Parts: sequence; structure tokens; C-alpha cells
Amino acid sequence: MILLTTMDSTFAAKTKKTLRNIGYESLSACSCEESIGLLKVSNEIKLVIIDIDTVVDVLPLINHIESKILIPIIYTTVNKKVPLNFYNSFYHSCIPKNGRDLLLESSLEAAMKLFRGIRNCKIKCQVNKNIENLERGQEYRAIFENDQVVMMIINPETKEIVDVNSAATQFYGWSREEMLKMSLSDLSLIKEELLEKKLNLVKYKKKNHFTVKNRIKNGDIIDIEVYSGPIKIEGKTLVFEIIKDVTDRKEFESMIKKLAYYDILTDLPNRKSFSDHLMDSIEKSKIDKSKIVVINLNIDYFKEINDNFGHHVGDSLLVEIARRLERSVRESNQVYRKGGDEFTVIINENLKRDEISKICERLISQLKKPVEIEGKQIFVTGSIGVAIYPEDGTDSETLLKNSDLAMYKSKQEGRNTYNFFSEKIDLETKLKRDIASNLRAALLKKELKLYFQPKINLQKSEIMGSECLVRWIKNGELYKSPGEFIPVAEASGMILDLDKYVLTEACRQIEMWENSNMKGQRISVNISGLHFKRQRIIRTAKSIFKKFKIPKRSIEIEITEGVFLDDIEEAIATLMELKALGFEISIDDFGTGYSSFKYLSRLPINRIKIDKSFIENISDTKNDLAITKMIISMGKLLNINVIAEGVETEEQLDLLIENGCIEVQGYYFGKPMPLTKYEKFYRENKNNIDILYFQKLFKIG
Ligand code: C2E
Ligand code: CA
Ligand code: CA
Repeated sequence: MILLTTMDSTFAAKTKKTLRNIGYESLSACSCEESIGLLKVSNEIKLVIIDIDTVVDVLPLINHIESKILIPIIYTTVNKKVPLNFYNSFYHSCIPKNGRDLLLESSLEAAMKLFRGIRNCKIKCQVNKNIENLERGQEYRAIFENDQVVMMIINPETKEIVDVNSAATQFYGWSREEMLKMSLSDLSLIKEELLEKKLNLVKYKKKNHFTVKNRIKNGDIIDIEVYSGPIKIEGKTLVFEIIKDVTDRKEFESMIKKLAYYDILTDLPNRKSFSDHLMDSIEKSKIDKSKIVVINLNIDYFKEINDNFGHHVGDSLLVEIARRLERSVRESNQVYRKGGDEFTVIINENLKRDEISKICERLISQLKKPVEIEGKQIFVTGSIGVAIYPEDGTDSETLLKNSDLAMYKSKQEGRNTYNFFSEKIDLETKLKRDIASNLRAALLKKELKLYFQPKINLQKSEIMGSECLVRWIKNGELYKSPGEFIPVAEASGMILDLDKYVLTEACRQIEMWENSNMKGQRISVNISGLHFKRQRIIRTAKSIFKKFKIPKRSIEIEITEGVFLDDIEEAIATLMELKALGFEISIDDFGTGYSSFKYLSRLPINRIKIDKSFIENISDTKNDLAITKMIISMGKLLNINVIAEGVETEEQLDLLIENGCIEVQGYYFGKPMPLTKYEKFYRENKNNIDILYFQKLFKIG
């Protein structure tokens, strides 16, 4: 029976299942107190798994187990700092939370083996008490009867074996008669002087406890633990020895040590080793003033690989990557697996920046070579961050944190690259943290306002609607632009609430316009790709639609190509449902992402929006013009509307008209503007746009 202590009911349920699959029953408790209670009433429990992060809460439970029942503990935690004794004691295993699924089973097996070992230890404790009894002059024979514990009496002067019990003869393999003819030197593999020293200690009434190697009859060498003490028999001081085979325990100890310091999957030293070694290196560098380079490497899209190909492929990939990384650095530079898909390298050399760059480039190019697993070719890339001691941090935590920040910068830059930590990165991170902590309040305080940018249909010479773009307004002034806070909102998941808010406000606005003299308005709303995971957008849209009475197709949803990256079939199904609910669908920033060209004909969409980066250079970059032309003709072919965004100049407009683009949006016509300004713009400019259009038409002839 295994006792689980956790407040996380999902973890409890999952672990129970895992345990059952490998043949263990378990029960769970939600707190350490409850666990102590259970341990007091049940002696069936052979192992405790603790998943409570607050160390103070855990200590009473650990103390109870250590002092009362001596069973193995597996502690799984997100804590970076776990008290040292959580690791050192041989029957504890600490596993990081993010790796627990991977480590739990093996830790468990090691721990259960240990449990069997510990039962022997308990016998040892009893015997220790017996030694005390002996000292009190009790008859030693009675104790000698214990056939579970190996015991001998030695003459400390001659080292001769004076007596052995039946457990000893069984243990060593010689008969009693044979053993009584032998001396301790025949068994023990330690040096003669040392042996004498130990025996002498006992002679002077000192109890002694040590581990040595002994020879047994069949020639095997085993590790034994000896507890010895003086005993007076018939007026003579002899030495009493209790012997325990600890060969197994030694193995357990080294196994547990390996578990604590090595990653089982890749055989690389793990996070714990990494931080220990980094701390050691820092101490050394403080003295010899040398540099330390910390390279932090994260596999890009590893989760997707795991999801698409299965965990066993993910595991094989990690093993192969570990080997490649090891091959890419010098032997003196250690590679570690920090956890999951994260690896680190510590380099204790005074390298120049360009030399470090070369190492990073080598690591990146090693990763890029395809990996073949189960006949499949898998392509991966990695993102790297570098922090250097002492300039980027003088303690291990700061160095690790800063190398992490630099790695995230590489992720943001599109992955498959490396970055050195810099003050700028530090500032950016602080800024983002600030934004994240204020954004939720801003949402509640309605500091996020909808701005409207007109969209023009040139053919019909009318304002066909507007795109609503969110602005963070504080004290009546623009505080932050979406470019600053949308990525933060996406990273934190807050974008779901933000999009919901914007969509609600857009619907409310349409409803208000429908009841005014601005009937027939259409608004495009940007919806983050995150909202398409598990069809969240459907639930959001349904709940909002219930609240408002608005015409069908008055709201258009703008999505980016990223939506199709994960699961195209699911994305198509979601879009169909959105269309059925009455939304128009537009693909934003078209041509920049993982191009959906190839499956465009299958997508249930109304419109594609040529990204403004193409329009920006349309008059001087041939490629951008060619792409624009291609998107326009493809739209015509597939009967999908095409709109160009970011139109700023007459020249750009000319080129678009020339190539048959009918819908446009950009500063040339109007910037995103607050509600009242947009309403004014709409009323005033309807006619102006007519004039503008005819002028253009006239120009082209
Ligand atoms: P986007 O959807 O591609 O929006 C177009 C961006 O281009 C807007 O930037 C707009 O102000 C800007 N723009 C429009 N015309 C021109 C032009 O002629 N020249 C130039 N240089 N820029 C032009 P903005 O408002 O800063 O928004 C940036 C991005 O933030 C948007 O890109 C969109 O991805 C995101 N965003 C804005 N509002 C929302 C929202 O409510 N929800 C979500 N999920 N994302 C939003
Ligand atoms: Ca947009
Ligand atoms: Ca866009």
C-alpha cells in the first residue's frame, strides 16, 4: 500500500491509476496531518509519496516517518530549494514536479527495493539494544540464539574467532568447527593494522560501527556493516560482533544517488547536478577570476512532437539530442538535462563572445540535422540563451534565470537562434511583468477601449465597415499600444478574457448602431489563436450572442494562419460552426505565417487580408508586388474577397487598384480612432471616398 499526500486531486487520480498499473494499491490524503493519522492506524503502508510544496507543512510528516516507521519517501515538488536532508538520507528521493511522470515509476521501484532493505535495518536496531543488554552482563548465549542476525565473538589479542552463531555459519558458508579455527584476518579484507586498531578500540570499552569488505566461503566479496562492542565472558574481555550484509544497500545508495543526480532517460547529469556544479564553479571562479558560460537550450515545439508522434518518440528524440549536444562540446564542458526539453551546458573557460557564438551555432546546427526514429524523419530546432559569470550574475540562480530570459528572447525572435543575456532583455522582462500584473485590473476598470479603423470597398465606393483594435487608455491618454500588451496577454492566457471583452463590446456597438442612424455597420474583431484551442471561441461566441440582437454577418472574425498549425481539421470544424452562428471569417496577416496557400480552397472563409509588410514595400520590392498579385488572383479564383491592409500612400493604392484589389484599409484613409471620432468620420467621408475612387479610376483610364 502506498500513501499519497497531495491537494491536487487530478494528480492523485492519475497516480493511483499509474500505481495500479504497475501493481501497487494506494490511498490518498489531502494534508500531512491526515497522512500522519493514516500512518498511525495502518501498518500496511510501505511508501509515502508527498506532493506538498510548503516545506514547513511537510516537515512534521517527514519527522514522523523517520522517527516512527522508517519507510521510503518520494517527495515531488516545484520547489527549487529543498532542504538538504530531503536528498541526502538514502531512503528519500526528490523528484521535480515537471519530471514526475517520467521519474515516478523508477523512483518507486528503487524505493520499494529499499523498503525491503530497511526492514533489515530495523532488525539492526533491535540488535543494537541487545548489545546494551550484553553490557549489562546478561547471558550472551540467549542472544546468540537469534538465527536471523549474524554474530561472532572474537579474541581481540589473537584475532581468533571464539564463537559464531548459526546465522554466521550460514552467512559465511563455513561450518562452526571450521570457523572456530579461523581468525578475523581470514575474513576481513582490511589492512592488519587497521583491524587491530578497531579491535583495540573495543577493548577499551568503546562501541564501534564500521563497514568493511569480507570474504565468504564461495569466494565472493561482500560489503558488511559491523557493530561491535566489548563483552566479558569468564573474566576475559572479548569482542562481540554483529554483522549485516549491506551489499544491496550500497547498490541502493548508489542507485538513489544516481536518481538524485542523473537523468534516467538521457543519462545526463540532471538539474540538481547542474546547480551543484554551477555553485562549485562559481566558488572556484571567485578565486581564480575565471569566466563561466551558462548555455541554456530549449527544444522548439517539443510538445507538438510529443503530441504528434507519441511520448516514446519524444523520449528517443531527447536521448539522441543529448548525445549530439555532448558531441558538440569539449569533454571538459558538461551537458545537463535540466528537465523536459531543456538542456544546459556549463563551460569553465575564458571564452570571447565570438567563440561562445561559434559554440551556439554548432549546437544549433547539430540539432537541425534530421533524426530518424522508427522510420520517421523528425526535424527539430532549438532556442538558446547565454549568461556569463560574472557580468550577467554572480550566483547560480541569477545566472540560470538570465540565461532563461535570453532563451525566451530567442523563442520570441522566431526560435532556432541564440541570444546573449543583456540589460535590455532584463528591462523588457520587467516591463512585461508589469504589464501582465496591471492588465487584468485594466480589463476590469474598462481601461481597454475599442478604436475603429475604416475599411474601404473601392468598387462600391463606400466604407464597408471597420476593424476594431484595442487601446489601453489611462487617464484619458494612450498608455500602451497592442503591440506591447497583446503578446503579454497571449503568453499569460489573459487574451481569452480580453478577446471576449472586445467581442462583447463590438456586438454591443453594432446593436447600438442598429438602433441609430448608422445602421448596417460591420466590425472586424481580432481573435487570438489561443481562443481556437478546444473550440473555446464557440462557447465564448454563443454566450455573447445570447445577450445582443444583431444582424447576421455584422461581425467578422480575424484570425491568423497560426490557427491552422495545430490541428487543421479541428480548426476547419470550428470555423464552420462560427459561420453557422453568423460570423464572417477573415485570415489576417496572410502570407506571413505557415502559409495556408495549400489548403486555402478547403477553408470556410470569406476574406483574406494581405499583410501590411507586403504593402509597405509593394512599390519598390518586386517580390512583394508579385506576392500581392498572386494573393489577389488566387482570391478571385477561389471566390474569396481580398483586402489589403497598411495602405499609406497613393502609390501603394495605385498599384493595388491596378492589380484588381477592391478592398483596402490603412492610414491613407484613416487611422484607428475612438468611437465618436469614427462616427464623425463615417458620416463625413462616405462621399469623399466616392470622389477619391473616381479620381483614381479616371487616372488609370
Ligand atoms: P493587426 O490585426 O494586423 O492590425 C493591424 C495593425 O496595423 C493595427 O495595429 C493597425 O493600427 C495598424 N495599421 C493599420 N493601418 C496601418 C497603416 O496604414 N500603416 C501602418 N504602419 N499600420 C497600420 P495595432 O492597432 O497596433 O494592433 C497591432 C496588433 O495587435 C493587431 O494587428 C492585432 O494582431 C493585435 N490586436 C489589436 N487589437 C486586438 C484585439 O482586440 N484582440 C486581439 N486578439 N488582438 C488585437
Ligand atoms: Ca487584424
Ligand atoms: Ca494584420
